Amino acid sequence: MSRILDKWRRRRSPPATSLPERLYAHFPGAVMLLDAHGVILEVNPSVVPVTGHAAASLVGRRVTLLDEQPLRGPLSRALADCVQQRQPWRGLLHCRHADGRRLHLDTLIQPLAEGSHDTSRLLLIQHDVGTHLEPAIADRARLDRLEAVVTGLPGVVFQLHQAPRGALSFGYLSEGLTALCGLAPDAVKASPERLLDRLVGDDRQALTNALAQSSVSLEAFQLAVRIETPAGVRWVEATAGVRRDAEGGTLWDGWMQDVTRRKEAERRTQQLISTDMLTGMLNRRAFFANGEAVLAHAARQGRRVPVAMIDLDHFKALNDTHGHAAGDIALQRFATTCRDSLRPYDLIGRLGGEEFAVMLVDSDPEEAWSVLERLRQAVADNELVLGGETLHFTVSMGMAFLDPGGDLGEALSRADHALYRAKRAGRNRIVFPEQVT
Ligand code: GH3
Ligand code: MG
Ligand code: MG
Repeated sequence: MSRILDKWRRRRSPPATSLPERLYAHFPGAVMLLDAHGVILEVNPSVVPVTGHAAASLVGRRVTLLDEQPLRGPLSRALADCVQQRQPWRGLLHCRHADGRRLHLDTLIQPLAEGSHDTSRLLLIQHDVGTHLEPAIADRARLDRLEAVVTGLPGVVFQLHQAPRGALSFGYLSEGLTALCGLAPDAVKASPERLLDRLVGDDRQALTNALAQSSVSLEAFQLAVRIETPAGVRWVEATAGVRRDAEGGTLWDGWMQDVTRRKEAERRTQQLISTDMLTGMLNRRAFFANGEAVLAHAARQGRRVPVAMIDLDHFKALNDTHGHAAGDIALQRFATTCRDSLRPYDLIGRLGGEEFAVMLVDSDPEEAWSVLERLRQAVADNELVLGGETLHFTVSMGMAFLDPGGDLGEALSRADHALYRAKRAGRNRIVFPEQVT
């Protein structure tokens, strides 16, 4: 019985060591008692594993020896702050382990006022949190590498968001934007209008339409637009994948690049394949392609478009008498006369041989008549001096009107019938299809 009691008493007896002693022995952080100048007075056992220094080698030395850069490092500054303000200091500090590696230490510096004569002592408590921070540090390094790649790209990486109600905002814009168009990414992130306002002509509308289409179809986005930049107007092409976000908005992840050189090369090629080599006029294919754009423009305004077919008179005879080369010069002279007599936005094309077609933009019937009459007269007034001989040649024209939504080929065939009548009526004249000859 007494043995049981003894056992019970032993269990209830006070611990062999006190809580402060146990805390001192097992506390996982480095704890140091410092004087007001940062000289280490006492250390706990964990100082050794945390700092890598032997306890004996620390006592009596300034704690700033642990700093990343002794005397100028963050620990020195934190200590100075704490002493000056007599306030605890808490934060994350970078220090140096005895083996040279960088330490991430969660640090508390607690001022201790001891006794009435106010000799300040400081308690420094540090926990190594490097292992907790490792994933974040690795993420940061990965992000830095990615950022460096993106910054080095010859273009701009972007994320564009469109809210369900249509408002546009950039979630991301890489640094390349400044080189591309002279705008800072942050300024455009704060206000996308700064970039959108720089779009030239109809390109703002084209962008709105292309975004709307991509947003509905969820098909990849691609569009080239012209942007006003300090270096002049540049072509910029954006290519992006598209997806819907959780709130019903749309997100485009993509990139933009300057494609001005490519666009100019395309324009030169287009010019080559759409131009008749002898006269420099549009060829048949290009005339019809451009004609469709003129028609669409006129249809929007509900206007009729005057068209005409033009044919050189007795051209076979000119060729036969003066040679094919003289005929070519006459064709070139006719082209020059057209350029001088028509307005720059009127369309004229060489449909074949010595047959030409004209579309007069934004003209009413009277105006169209007087423009063509001026051209007919100018051709007749031409003097072609060839081999000491002065030649004259004339043209006949047939006119027709194309209603909004009408067919260009059909209108030109009506004009061709009128041309036939002009030939029959004696040449060097203009005839309407409605005119009775
Ligand atoms: P009409 O007044 O009825 O139009 O008589 P025309 O002699 O002009 O009529 P036609 O259509 O019979 O003759 C067209 C001529 O144009 C025939 C062809 O040799 C000539 N021609 C077509 N293309 C060229 C060209 O590129 N260069 C030259 N020099 N002649 C061409
Ligand atoms: Mg002819
Ligand atoms: Mg002919």
